[in-house]
Amino acid sequence: MKTWIHKTLAFTAVSALIISGCSAKTTTETSASAAPTAQANQESGKKLKVVTTFYPMYEFSKQIAGEHAEVIGLVPTGVEPHDWEPSAKDMAQLKEADVFVYNGIVEGWVPKALESAANSKRVVVEASKAVELMEGLHEEDEHGHGKEEKEHKDEHEEEGLDPHVWLDPVLAQKEVAAIQAALVQADPAHKDAYTKNADAYIAKLKELDDLFRSGLKDVKRKDFITQHAAFAYLAKQYGLTQVPISGLSPEAEPAPDKMAEVIKFAKEKTVKTIFFETLVDPKIASTIAKEIGAKTEVLNPLEGLTDEEKKNNLDYIGVMKKNLEALKKGLNE
Ligand SMILES: [Zn+2]
Repeated sequence: MKTWIHKTLAFTAVSALIISGCSAKTTTETSASAAPTAQANQESGKKLKVVTTFYPMYEFSKQIAGEHAEVIGLVPTGVEPHDWEPSAKDMAQLKEADVFVYNGIVEGWVPKALESAANSKRVVVEASKAVELMEGLHEEDEHGHGKEEKEHKDEHEEEGLDPHVWLDPVLAQKEVAAIQAALVQADPAHKDAYTKNADAYIAKLKELDDLFRSGLKDVKRKDFITQHAAFAYLAKQYGLTQVPISGLSPEAEPAPDKMAEVIKFAKEKTVKTIFFETLVDPKIASTIAKEIGAKTEVLNPLEGLTDEEKKNNLDYIGVMKKNLEALKKGLNE
């Protein structure tokens, strides 16, 4: 899987210098200033082209861009992004991008893709860099299966860090601010509009945070069982505990003893609801729910919208409000 780039594209050893992991939230791929990009855009009358990876990156960018930029999401509707990889067409989009927005960690293909589709003027933002990331799995967690998980971890978990920051309305604001900075860097002529749009969206995220904080303050239970470990930041923010059936990537098969652990935990805590996801087969969650006589509810990790959600004009805020209702219901039974 990691060798896709060698199969599909001629790999070039002469690649642009990519500066990453520094304290700056955005990076350009050369030492050239961002000014020529903006100037070129103004001269040609072309809109800024912002290429993003999966849904929350698209939505946040779109909210900030407003009418001043063309925003493209690479991962299609209904597709789970953890194992998605770009096609040749996606690589062409990436090459032409003035700004490229990705979350980080979820998109393991990005560093090689940026080298292959080199573009010296492109501004790249790894939005989760604006947040101090948590370790995905503990050495030895409270259920005592840290060691075997370490042996069976998948490639995302090898990174060790949990990428799911967009699911915390407080941390999402930091991602929005990082994306805003990148748009301003690439297109300073529209700085005021990007700033105004970002401020307005951050205000909405603050309202969402208030709803979560008040809605989850007095719930009867604090533990919730999820399909994959997507809700650790949200849980921490609102004083809850997430018990995931599989790891940081939803396709990772849980070991049978892990299933047994979750079932034992659910029985001990008399859990009444098992949460499952929209883009992943709910078989395992249903099996556990049946075993303990619990209900199942959707808790959407917003790694992509379904066609149905898109048809119903649901967006990040809309889905998050549904998540809050599901949590309140599940945790009050
Ligand atoms: Zn995930």
